[in-house]
Amino acid sequence: MTLLFKVDTERGLAWKNLFQRHAPDIDVRFWPDLGDPDEVRYLATWQPPPDVHLLLPNLQAIFATSAGVDQFDLRCLPPQVEVVRMLDPGIVQAIVEYACFAVLALHRKMPEYLAQQHQQQWQIQPWVSAPQQRVGVMGLGNLGIAVLDRLQTFGFSLKGWARSAKRIDAVECFAGTEQLPQFLNQCDILICLLPLTEDTRGILNASTFAALPPGAKLINLGRGGHLIETDLLQALDSGHLQHAVLDVLNDEPPAADHPFWQHPRIWLTPHIGAMTQPETAFEVLLANIRRHQRGEPMVGTIKRSDGY
Ligand code: NDP
Repeated sequence: MTLLFKVDTERGLAWKNLFQRHAPDIDVRFWPDLGDPDEVRYLATWQPPPDVHLLLPNLQAIFATSAGVDQFDLRCLPPQVEVVRMLDPGIVQAIVEYACFAVLALHRKMPEYLAQQHQQQWQIQPWVSAPQQRVGVMGLGNLGIAVLDRLQTFGFSLKGWARSAKRIDAVECFAGTEQLPQFLNQCDILICLLPLTEDTRGILNASTFAALPPGAKLINLGRGGHLIETDLLQALDSGHLQHAVLDVLNDEPPAADHPFWQHPRIWLTPHIGAMTQPETAFEVLLANIRRHQRGEPMVGTIKRSDGY
């Protein structure tokens, strides 16, 4: 049973050690040293090589080393190849940390206080209590639910939006495009944790921003493709939106003259919301390979028609 990794050298070494120690029966290889391509059944990668099905004719599953699979061109992959996303508990923990950091920073007006410090101003901003602060999460999947669960401990007024209807304790849930404006109207802080699909590309746009209450703040932890950047600049510059915290961008890194670098009301981080760590992801990957070997369904297999 051969598993091929196409990952960077440092992580490759970590994966190699873990498999050698805990699953020596699995023949693990590292791109570009594939050996006999006919023997490769599994591929673990962020981005498969072009024409992967021709290169690896007996491939049965591709394991994304990421939670999202938007970087894959699913149309090019033959239907018999299962595509499985990474459900690493380390990713959940890291996204929860980032979301809590960003919500708390915005809730406690840290961008304003940092700006004041640079101008040597000692001035108290108007206070908003946590129950008065309405925080909404777009995407109620593995990550969105975990974020809402942790945010509950601070006592925020929580909202959530997904494609299908959900019931989550202490969260007012909305579903589908019809209920999107109603959801947005009630989000003082909006967090995007959607997968990037044909339906969600560009969803953080002028009409979405217009539906948010004046002074709302945006946290984008999804993908850069969710955001129409010029619409965000307009919404910030008009004063309708107060601040944006962006972990992901269309072009990463952005060009040297990109307006976000210097914008006083944008915080940028270089896509560090979460990164798959072999130490925490290993058990999940191995458990899925074992399931596949036993002929059982794998956890995290994506639905090709939905794109996530
Ligand atoms: P899941 O697949 O578990 O959840 C996706 C959620 O989005 C579901 O609730 C789904 O609705 C909802 N959704 C999908 N399409 C639509 C739509 N058209 N309209 C409304 N809701 C929709 O994904 P995860 O929670 O694991 O991950 C979400 C995304 O987070 C990833 O795809 C990735 O882009 C991003 N991410 C970013 C990271 C970073 O470092 N910044 C790290 C990891 C992930 P339903 O429940 O009805 O199916």
